[in-house]
Amino acid sequence: MNEPRDRDNAYDPARRAMIDTQISARGIRDPRVLAAMDAVPRERFVPEALRSAAYEDRALPIDEQQTISQPYIVAYMTDALCVAPHHRVLEVGTGSGYQVAVLAHLANEVHTIERLEVLSETAARRVAALGIQNVQFHLGDGSLGWPDAAPYDRIIVTAAAPAVPPALIAQLVEGGILVLPVGEQGKQTLVSATRRAHRTVERVLIACRFVRLVGRDAWHGS
Ligand code: SAH
Repeated sequence: MNEPRDRDNAYDPARRAMIDTQISARGIRDPRVLAAMDAVPRERFVPEALRSAAYEDRALPIDEQQTISQPYIVAYMTDALCVAPHHRVLEVGTGSGYQVAVLAHLANEVHTIERLEVLSETAARRVAALGIQNVQFHLGDGSLGWPDAAPYDRIIVTAAAPAVPPALIAQLVEGGILVLPVGEQGKQTLVSATRRAHRTVERVLIACRFVRLVGRDAWHGS
């Protein structure tokens, strides 16, 4: 389970190189975002057999046919979310737990919801092992958000929805921001939606590729 400390340190140079060449060099400069990416040992969130590939410039497979996003995409979405230290954040799609561990360094309180129990449980164990205490893990259909802890200052979805789910907008504070991939397999874009008093302002960001958000207010099926 827990790797010895000296073994963990072995990944420090790879993590620094990732931040320099994949993240800063591509325009992400917010020091808080870079520090959060530096604080999370990505090698602990990938399958054992893929540890040596943890800092490569790509998404990697995790259990249950899901993926951990490419480091740049994690940093890009985190940056687009503009998280402040007092914020309460919801993540939909816990997956490996990597994105939520990054968010935990930036926000006051983070909730994350996953539909697959085995992923949620593994992610919760990894996050706890790092001493992170401000994340709550929930099991369920995140296309409907997590109403029990709403409203949120920020919501991030890490699986692709057919359209912006109305329940997620409804669970944002006024001025709150939702960042999510929208579209079909192979044709997705990241969208940033800001909730204003009487309307939602949407901005299209960059092209991306995520697994599907499966749920009532998303894609149907398994
Ligand atoms: N944020 C993750 C990447 C997750 S991949 C990380 O850092 O590793 C997308 C995840 O969304 C998968 O684990 C998938 O099971 C989950 N998912 C898909 N539809 C969902 C839904 N309706 N509610 C909650 N989780 C969902």
